[in-house]
Amino acid sequence: MTIDEFRTRVESHKAEASQHILGALDANALEEQRTHVWSRTVQQSFSKALGELPADDRREAGRLFNELKVHVEAVLESRRAEIASLQHALDKPKLDLTMPARARWRGGKHPVTLVIDEIVAIFRELGFTVALGPESESEWYNFSALNFPADHPAMDMHDTFYLGEGALLRTHTSPVQIRTLQSSPPPIRILAPGTVFRRDPFDASHAPAFAQVEGLAVDEGISFVDLKATLTLFAQKFFGKTRTRFRPSYFPFTEPSAEMDVECRLCGGRGCSACKGTGWMEILGSGMVHPSVLEAAGIDSERYTGWAFGMGPGRIAMLRYGLPDIRLLYDSDIRFLEQVAE
Ligand SMILES: [Zn+2]
Repeated sequence: MTIDEFRTRVESHKAEASQHILGALDANALEEQRTHVWSRTVQQSFSKALGELPADDRREAGRLFNELKVHVEAVLESRRAEIASLQHALDKPKLDLTMPARARWRGGKHPVTLVIDEIVAIFRELGFTVALGPESESEWYNFSALNFPADHPAMDMHDTFYLGEGALLRTHTSPVQIRTLQSSPPPIRILAPGTVFRRDPFDASHAPAFAQVEGLAVDEGISFVDLKATLTLFAQKFFGKTRTRFRPSYFPFTEPSAEMDVECRLCGGRGCSACKGTGWMEILGSGMVHPSVLEAAGIDSERYTGWAFGMGPGRIAMLRYGLPDIRLLYDSDIRFLEQVAE
């Protein structure tokens, strides 16, 4: 035998051994193949052939034989691992195709968004359209144009987030009234939902940022009757059949002003701890637009009158879902949200 013949024999055994080993489907078959392709006899026959080679070729033949040995052992080991992992998968409990599928997780609208959507839908039927404004406002739009006197406590640093150079985070959605009055002539019927900001502590009934919905109607001949009729209709549509009442109130930008109450949702008007025994719950503030506000926006207050209201969808959501703490609306706790999401 020559070294070339020896090399050919090594290569062909390498291929044959690999084929046999990879064909084994379980541990027993693998052992059978091992004794077939890599038995002591097989190894001895290679040693014997090596010994018959001329002395000069034995070194190269030894290297080839060693390479074959490493290769066969590596293929054996990798097939052994594959079989073990297959066996492990087969030993696991069987897949039960009759089991019901796990329900798919579904996103939903936040309760505050649901309330805003519903308020918008009710007023849309009455001819109102949605208007939006910037969250960063000037002092003029947020206070001066809305008839706040220069020393009004709401302008205090303790209540308002000032951004510097006369800019601030709007403390209410009312600046949208001014922007709308400036940009479009009456008749006006708009609804302005948005986020507002106050330097309030974050506790059970206050949040530093919360949603508000503003409404404004301006036209010739609009009176308090329109305000009362529209807001009462809204309350009936939103809460179902309920009694309402208007209480005199004060806002710089309306005159006269009134807050609207609905019957307590929890006790039905009999009086409970949620309504502090009164049987009523306040849902919004409203009033006839102050003539100074109309004039500030360039509207002739002799010719036009209007009414406006503002309400907190967060507060309404608390009433609707009976929430004890406003922070539930901002914690993003999925366990709570899943109960109210639609
Ligand atoms: Zn009550």
